[in-house]
Amino acid sequence: KEPIPKELVQRRRFLKRQKDKDLFETVEEVFDMSTQMAVYELMRRGVIGELLGTISAGKEARVFCAKDPEGNDIAVKIYLTSTAEFRKSIRKYIIGDPRFEQIANRGLRRLIYAWARKEFRNLKRMMQAGIRVPKPIAVYKNVLVMEFIGEGCRRAPLLVELAKPKNQLDVEEWTKIFNTVYDYMVKMYQKAKLVHADLNEYNIMYWKEEPVIIDVSQAVPISHPYADEFLRHDIQQIRRFFSSVGVEVPSFAEMYAKITGL
Ligand code: ADP
Ligand code: MN
Repeated sequence: KEPIPKELVQRRRFLKRQKDKDLFETVEEVFDMSTQMAVYELMRRGVIGELLGTISAGKEARVFCAKDPEGNDIAVKIYLTSTAEFRKSIRKYIIGDPRFEQIANRGLRRLIYAWARKEFRNLKRMMQAGIRVPKPIAVYKNVLVMEFIGEGCRRAPLLVELAKPKNQLDVEEWTKIFNTVYDYMVKMYQKAKLVHADLNEYNIMYWKEEPVIIDVSQAVPISHPYADEFLRHDIQQIRRFFSSVGVEVPSFAEMYAKITGL
C-alpha cells in the first residue's frame, strides 16, 4: 500500500480546522495550490491556527483575519500570484507557449515572493525606527503574517473612514493624529531611511487613539532613484488630506525640510 502523501495529510488537517466552509471555498477558488500549501506550511509551523474571514480583497493582495494557535487575532496578507490581472500584464511576454508560460509564471511567482519579503522587512525596519506599524510575525512565499490591528476580527478604521462620509473626529484629534503621522514621516526618512511611497488616508489605520501605518510593500530606501519624487508625493497627499479635515498643516517646504533634515 502506498503511504498517504504528506500534502494530502496536511490538506485534510487544514480542512478539519476550517469551521467556515464557505470561507474555505473562497480560499480554494482564489488561491492556487502553491499558495494553499504555503498557508498549510505556516499552520504546520504553528504560526497560523485557523484562517477566518476576509478583511479586504484588493487587486494585488487579500487580507484575512486569522487566529494563531493560542487564539490571538493575526492578520494574513496573501499576494495574488495567478489573477487574470497579472496574466494580462505579462501576456506580451508569454505569447501562448505553454512551456514559456510556465517559466514566465515561475518568474512572476518569485517576484511576488520577493515583494512579500520586502513588505516584511520594511515593517521591521519601520518598527525599529519607532513607527507604529503592524508587528511583522512571519513571511513565507506569498503569505505575510502580522499583528492584527483591531479586535475580535474587526479591523480598526482607516483615516479615510473617520473623515468620510461623516467626519467623526474634532479638529484637535485630527491635529494630534497629523502630528504623530508627521513624526512618523521624519522617523521613516531619518531612522528607517525609507520612503513609504503610497502614504495617504487609505493606508493609515486608527487604533487605540494612535495612527498605524500599513501597506509598506512599495516603500523604497531613500537612495532609490525615485525616492525624492515619492516623498514629495507622500507629503502632498498628507497635506491634502489633513487640511481637508481642518488641520492647519505646515507648508510643503517646511515639511520637506524637516523630514529630510535639510
Ligand atoms: P492593499 O491596499 O495593497 O490591498 P493593504 O496592506 O493596504 O493592501 O491592506 C488592505 C486592507 O486590509 C487595509 O485597508 C486594511 O483595511 C486591512 N488591513 C491591512 N493590514 C491589516 C492589519 N495588520 N490588521 C487589520 N487590518 C489590516
Ligand atoms: Mn492599501
